[in-house]
Amino acid sequence: MNYLCYTIDMTYYYFITRSILLISFTVSLYIAYTTVYLHPCQRPQTYTVGTIDSSFNISQSELVTILQEIEYVWEQPMGRTLTFEYVEQDADITVNLLPTTADISNGQQYDKGDFYKGELNIYEFENKYDLALVLAHEFGHALDMDHVEDSQAIMHYLLQSNPRSYPELTVDDLRELKNKCRLLQ
Ligand SMILES: [Zn+2]
Repeated sequence: MNYLCYTIDMTYYYFITRSILLISFTVSLYIAYTTVYLHPCQRPQTYTVGTIDSSFNISQSELVTILQEIEYVWEQPMGRTLTFEYVEQDADITVNLLPTTADISNGQQYDKGDFYKGELNIYEFENKYDLALVLAHEFGHALDMDHVEDSQAIMHYLLQSNPRSYPELTVDDLRELKNKCRLLQ
């Protein structure tokens, strides 16, 4: 009788230990999967063009050309470990050029663009260079980048005074990129 009790206890103990190990293993796998694989730095980010409001006087092919050029702003420092890729449909990111919904007549402020849950919306730009800059900034947000201090940086919140002829990452931008994408150097 004593022997039987001992056997049952051991079986119970074994069952609990095995369950804990199995749960820990599953949780670790899930954390690794979400932090490594699902992070936007770690797999190709596809994008497509959604709505272009006619007030912007820009064609879809002109917009795609600009987008394909500014991919390199983020890809180049990362080598081939990061890629933006244009696709016709089912993209991670949909780029829209839309009129702002802000109440301009009452002086309401609004951003030139924003990125939220895969929708990259541009509301205003002065010329194609300015559009490229705003798109590069919002692509940064699509990679989970936050704003940085340097007023010359692409990820500066105001994004006004970057004097370069083409969007280029500054030291602050690169630091944020390396931090978010877990690069070692
Ligand atoms: Zn921003």
